Amino acid sequence: MKPAAFDYVAPNSLEKAVEALAAANGDGKVLAGGQSLMPLLNFRMTRPAIVIDLMHVPGMSFIELRGNRIAIGAMTRHADLEFSDLIATQLPVMAAAMPHVAHLAIRNKGTIGGSLSHADPAAELPMLAVFYGATIKVQGPGGHRDIPAEEFFVSALTNCLDPDEIVFEIDFPVLTSHTGWAFEEVARRFGDFALASIAVSLEWRDTRIADARVAVMGVADTPLRLREAEAALQGAPGGSETAAKFAEVVRSCLSPASDIHVSAEYRRNLIGTLAERAFTTAWTGAAGERR
Ligand SMILES: Cc1cc2nc3c(=O)[nH]c(=O)nc-3n(C[C@H](O)[C@H](O)[C@H](O)COP(=O)(O)OP(=O)(O)OC[C@H]3O[C@@H](n4cnc5c(N)ncnc54)[C@H](O)[C@@H]3O)c2cc1C
Repeated sequence: MKPAAFDYVAPNSLEKAVEALAAANGDGKVLAGGQSLMPLLNFRMTRPAIVIDLMHVPGMSFIELRGNRIAIGAMTRHADLEFSDLIATQLPVMAAAMPHVAHLAIRNKGTIGGSLSHADPAAELPMLAVFYGATIKVQGPGGHRDIPAEEFFVSALTNCLDPDEIVFEIDFPVLTSHTGWAFEEVARRFGDFALASIAVSLEWRDTRIADARVAVMGVADTPLRLREAEAALQGAPGGSETAAKFAEVVRSCLSPASDIHVSAEYRRNLIGTLAERAFTTAWTGAAGERR
């Protein structure tokens, strides 16, 4: 199918893009990499009066180390993240996750701002934003505001942006003391959206876990940070017993839904298995650093 008719503008500044979006009165759509928006337009699942292309807005594609944070421009492509040395060294969980995002052709076009705004509950970048505790910076007609990633995702395919706001930057804190980490995902085929996925990172001190970070996706309407599972690891030793207990806590604090792909029970078991595997990898890495 072809999209319904729409007006098209390609502004050359963020301010002009916000102006055009505000003028559309809720009937405008921002175009980034187009990997999700174009299919929606073609299937006529969305029929905006105007499409505002961000391609010609300068300064929206960058990856920068700023103190203990990595700042990423909203128009930065998935492939730029995948092949960045800065991401590999400072945000290793993101580096491990990026090859799981669709296929290389899509990663060459898709952007981080587009992925976060699209808010697919089984997408890697929204989960990584929640995992790292990222801040999503958005610009509206009245100025800019900072949104914590955990507040940004409201439900499946729904974010908390006002209709005239544009994401322009995302700031990721570097988890400097977390020396062990893991990312685990299962999809029906490599490159498909995840059936379930988990990210874990650990700080290891004096033969105990001093701090833990845990987030999951594909098992709820939004990506989730699992504080209960993090608390269960606090002060625990490594090893298979802790891994099994951790998996049980992860399973027990989730109520995934059945869908056309798998049953709720399958998903719950899957996330438990992935949790056990991820913990073991993260712990091995964290403890190995200290030997
Ligand atoms: C076959 C296929 C498989 C895929 N598999 C995966 C996968 O496994 N994992 C995964 O994470 N993704 C997957 N994707 C999605 C892909 O990663 C997209 O690139 C991404 O979801 C959207 O990014 P985009 O830059 O293309 O955004 P667009 O398609 O341009 O926009 C998506 C939405 O976000 C809005 N938007 C875009 N940028 C901004 C902004 N800066 N501020 C405010 N709103 C904005 C748009 O208006 C639109 O509503 C897949 C896509 C395809 C086609």
